[in-house]
Amino acid sequence: MHGSVPAPPPVTMPGLSCDYLVVGAGATAMAFVDELINNSRSTVVMVDTRAKPGGHWNDAYDFVRLHQPAALYGVNSRKLGTGGPDLTSKYQILAYYETVLASLAATGRLTWLPHTRHQGGGRCLSLLEGGRETLVTVRRKVVDGTALATRVPATHPPNYDVGPGVSLVPIGGLARVERCWASYVVVGAGKTGLDALLYLLDQGVDPERIRWIVSNSCWYLNRDVVMEDGGMDGPKAQEAIKKANNLAELYQGFDKCGLFLRVNKQVEPTKMRAATVSETEIEKIRRLKDVVRKGRIERITKDKVIFIGGEELKSQDDSLYIDCSTSGTLFVPCQTIFQPGRIVLQMVQLPAPTMSGAVLAGLELLSQDDDFKNSVVKPVAAPHELEDWFRELGVALANFGRLKKVMGFWWMWRRRLVGVNMVEMLGLGLGLFIGFIIASSMLFKWLTGTLGGNTATGTKLEIMFPSKEKKE
Ligand SMILES: Cc1cc2nc3c(=O)[nH]c(=O)nc-3n(C[C@H](O)[C@H](O)[C@H](O)COP(=O)(O)OP(=O)(O)OC[C@H]3O[C@@H](n4cnc5c(N)ncnc54)[C@H](O)[C@@H]3O)c2cc1C
Repeated sequence: MHGSVPAPPPVTMPGLSCDYLVVGAGATAMAFVDELINNSRSTVVMVDTRAKPGGHWNDAYDFVRLHQPAALYGVNSRKLGTGGPDLTSKYQILAYYETVLASLAATGRLTWLPHTRHQGGGRCLSLLEGGRETLVTVRRKVVDGTALATRVPATHPPNYDVGPGVSLVPIGGLARVERCWASYVVVGAGKTGLDALLYLLDQGVDPERIRWIVSNSCWYLNRDVVMEDGGMDGPKAQEAIKKANNLAELYQGFDKCGLFLRVNKQVEPTKMRAATVSETEIEKIRRLKDVVRKGRIERITKDKVIFIGGEELKSQDDSLYIDCSTSGTLFVPCQTIFQPGRIVLQMVQLPAPTMSGAVLAGLELLSQDDDFKNSVVKPVAAPHELEDWFRELGVALANFGRLKKVMGFWWMWRRRLVGVNMVEMLGLGLGLFIGFIIASSMLFKWLTGTLGGNTATGTKLEIMFPSKEKKE
């Protein structure tokens, strides 16, 4: 860097025009565009500040994998991974999105503007050639694919002070460590923190040399049981909801049936952020003995860790701190999805950003007005506090009930992300069997005039946990 160069005056390039201008090429927007282009004659301009599609996956740590099966991730038109429980890696995901983008561009109806920032009003500014601006004329809608923008430690500094002489890396730095440290200190108990711990343990690091600083104990989703039992729509979840009378009983019920996991059975978790793990992974984490639960860190100095509550902890010699404290899901508050001239992509299932992107494109293509589309799906916020999970689950179940009616069985069956056709995940026999049960149940409800109503459990959750004010 040789000092800053004053920004040149904007030069407007010959304009582009399209039906949809899509801002962001992360996983949510890619699922939206894939569904839109493959099921209509629409033209799209897609713009992203990054050089490649895939959003935050570009910045993720080298050893990250999907937390949920790839069979339910990506876009509708193309399989990701090898099916079943396969959790694809960062590089497989990035290669996948590059292939998807190329195939969409090959239709001649997608224009891709990488390394470009949308400034609003269709003005797309090159981040490489100062002042070069392309004006995009939009015939139908601007699609905001940035509302779920995911934060990762590589792009966000720690939320505590780090004094001189402290060796601290974001989780991505762990993959590049070039010497052994006497002690590894992982800060954070979300999925990123668990990934750092598992990486260290899997590389053979002695659990005695690992310290884990947990500011909030979390509940985790049990990947094994979610897969076996059909997730939150499955019998175990439905039964636990039916039996519970309050929030504590809901968590007890989900814990008892194995849908939720926690590291230490003696510690009552205070957060639920929907991070997903397997029972084997949790067993590995339980081998750690040096688990520090003193609340959030205020400052790390060379000699000690100082917590916000005032407690202090002496540092071990030759420690490498690994920061995993970034909350990935601090999304903007929920807002109306279909607005005049604009669609704000948000989750409508929990936690399923890519299915949500695809479903919103499916709804957009219906010959219906925005009020109707907004009445079918309400935005689902990312859960943080204990109550959030069940409140948002209520919204998600209600959305799914209405989607069944509006989109119909065949639409859902032909969309791999929706989770009705489970052949990719469970194999042909079981997948077809479950599809038959869902189809029969939908047919029965259609004949009895109850299709599209909320499920009993969805209604129960919506009554127990009414929507927060901020939600429209
Ligand atoms: C470690 C990890 C594992 C995960 N595993 C799973 C999983 O297994 N299953 C699952 O369903 N979800 C998983 N998730 C959730 C994940 O966040 C979503 O799957 C998804 O990647 C979010 O994508 P997005 O497109 O909404 O946001 P992002 O990936 O953040 O993409 C937004 C894009 O918008 C661009 N942008 C922002 N502003 C502008 C602008 N003004 N102009 C142009 N471009 C702009 C950004 O550069 C970015 O590329 C995981 C998340 C993490 C962190």
